[in-house]
Formats: sequence, C-alpha cells, structure tokens
Amino acid sequence: MNCVKSIVSDIETRAWTHHIPRLMILSNLALITGTKPIEFLDWMREQFIDASEWVMVPNVIGMGLHADGGKLMTKPYAAGGAYINRMTQSCKGCHYDPKLRVGDNACPFTTLYWDFLDRNKEAFAKNHRMGQQVNGLKRLSDLPELRVRAQEVLSGLDKGEI
Ligand code: SF4
Repeated sequence: MNCVKSIVSDIETRAWTHHIPRLMILSNLALITGTKPIEFLDWMREQFIDASEWVMVPNVIGMGLHADGGKLMTKPYAAGGAYINRMTQSCKGCHYDPKLRVGDNACPFTTLYWDFLDRNKEAFAKNHRMGQQVNGLKRLSDLPELRVRAQEVLSGLDKGEI
C-alpha cells in the first residue's frame, strides 16, 4: 500500500506528517478496518512529535474516527481508493488498483470502504449526509464477493501480509 508506506516512512523519519494524510490515510484506515479508537489514539500519541492532548483527542476521536457519535463531524470521513487517487500521487506506483474492490489486486481502501458502508448502513440510515454514499451500495452486484475480500484484507493486514 504505497500511500501507507510513504506516510509511515515520513513518521519514522521525523515523527510528523501533515494533517491531511493523517486524516485521509491513517484515520481513514483505522475507521474502515474497525480499529478500536483508543488503541489508534494511543498509537498516534506515541508516534507524533506534536501529539498535544487538546489536538489529538478531538482530531483522532472526533474528526478521524467519528467515535464521538458525530458531535464534532456530521459524517464519518471514510474514503476509498478512488478518492485517495484523486487527492494524491500515491496510487501511480502502487501494487493495488484503486478502481478495484474485489480480487487480489483490489485496493484495500476501496474494498474496506464499501464493506464499512455495508456494515454500518443501518446506523447511517438517518444521516442525510451519508445517503448518497450508502445508496451507492445498491449499485454493487458483487457485494457477496466484496464481503469475502474484506475479510481477506483484514486478515492480511493483521498478519502484515498487506
Ligand atoms: S491503490 Fe489503494 S493502497 Fe495503493 S496507494 Fe492507492 S489508495 Fe493506497
């Protein structure tokens, strides 16, 4: 995952990366993988040189993970590979294809983004800002395969194979 690799390398080099990759890549990945918010917050606290409590807690728990129940943000900042491809140069050199959601070359962000929407569609049903995204699920003819691929991706991430 080229996008994750370049940010982790940034963090290892200088214990810092810009707010946007923190939100779009790191927090997004934690959100759509279902990572425990407190565990991700602790990791962010350990990694970043500017990890002041008053910034880290609202940015990670509220803005990044939507784990405050939507007090800070009216919708979760969840995004798939197509969005990351539009916003960054990372996908050009990546092993994965941001347009694919199933198959071995599918972008893990794309797979997990749709899986996140699928898993949480009932919870988002009354959030009008999520309507368009959740409605997009109806267009997917490969939802059963996507759910299987999402489990493979989660397992691959867990084992460090992705
Ligand atoms: S294809 Fe997916 S994993 Fe690869 S750089 Fe793009 S968003 Fe990241």
